[in-house]
Amino acid sequence: MYGKRIIYAFMSIIVLLGIVAQGSPAQGQSEQAYGDIALDHISHLADEIGERVAGTSGEEQARDYLYQTFKDLGYDVEVQPFIFGSNGQESSNVIATKEGYLDTEKQIIIGAHYDSVRNVEGVDDNASGVGVMLEAAERAAAADSPYTIHFIAFGAEEVGLRGSHYYVSEMTDIEIESTMAMINLDSLAAGDYMYVHGGIADGSIREMALDISDNLGIDLQINPGLNPNYPEGTTGSWSDHAAFENAGIPIGYFESTNWEIGALDGYTQTEEFGSIWHNPARDNMAFIRENLAERMDSHIKNYAQILTELVHELVAPPSAEGIRTAIEELEAEGEIDNAEAIRVLQIHLIAVGQYENQGEVEKVIRHMGGFQVLLDHQKDQGMISEEAYEQLSHESDLLIQEWER
Ligand SMILES: [Zn+2]
Repeated sequence: MYGKRIIYAFMSIIVLLGIVAQGSPAQGQSEQAYGDIALDHISHLADEIGERVAGTSGEEQARDYLYQTFKDLGYDVEVQPFIFGSNGQESSNVIATKEGYLDTEKQIIIGAHYDSVRNVEGVDDNASGVGVMLEAAERAAAADSPYTIHFIAFGAEEVGLRGSHYYVSEMTDIEIESTMAMINLDSLAAGDYMYVHGGIADGSIREMALDISDNLGIDLQINPGLNPNYPEGTTGSWSDHAAFENAGIPIGYFESTNWEIGALDGYTQTEEFGSIWHNPARDNMAFIRENLAERMDSHIKNYAQILTELVHELVAPPSAEGIRTAIEELEAEGEIDNAEAIRVLQIHLIAVGQYENQGEVEKVIRHMGGFQVLLDHQKDQGMISEEAYEQLSHESDLLIQEWER
């Protein structure tokens, strides 16, 4: 017996080492270290293509590169052209989609603009954001996802956020309501510090990213709110998150800069060199490799890992724990204010959670059926709002779908 226990202990250590060696499930199938995939794309966009001004051949070359890259990763890819500017110039968004396997409209969006201003290679602004997005897309490519994921390369950001505004203007109301998060990546390589910003009304995505970076031991910061125009943890509407935030979608926005210098508005990126973005003498590979190579490698590696984990968490399959959190949020919004109703629902879900942990498929499905009956009763008794009933019924149905798969 004692001998056996030693063998079991030894075997579990082997298995554990195997998992560590393989990396977390979020790391996806890629063996490459975090950041390597992104850095390859950054050097292609900056070195091979260079300047990518909206409506020019440089932007078109990048568009085609993005289209082929997403295609090669197995995503459904759509090019969404739009007209901008007084002369009817054309640009495009490149939209890569992984359809979710559950019967729901729920989706998340990860976006980065691929155009640049004139006379720069746009390493920091914004080959860095595009590169990190492509790495997250590659790491998410192989795994099935319960919810739909869109990776979007926006065109014409530098001439008035045209691509993202156009994309949002084409979204249906259901698409807007069903978008659980929009994550914007803009200028990640050169700034003194790594930041994540949340929306004025909703900071939940920012908080998720901060929890992930804490667990990873990465120094991800927030705007300290030194400038009264930009409250702590938020930012200005100067990048592609703005149209989504205006539509009421929870946003997270990653950028590298320094919010504690200059006008305290995050515009001055570095103490030593001032701003890198939009500066022909700075935002190019030669300058960055000469002066900021280590910083770029470190920021890109860290952002690639944080984003990959964040996507993984945002599309985690439905669970009793997830529905319990939804009830807490509905209570906070005043959609459920009956303490007895909440207590009964939470107790039911605690039991389902135990069956989930034991892998008791039949019991999970049967008890979620019971949960639906409970919701019906509580709605009839006016103990929960129509909104709460609709949302929890949908979540309950998704959890059953997940276990019936
Ligand atoms: Zn930018």
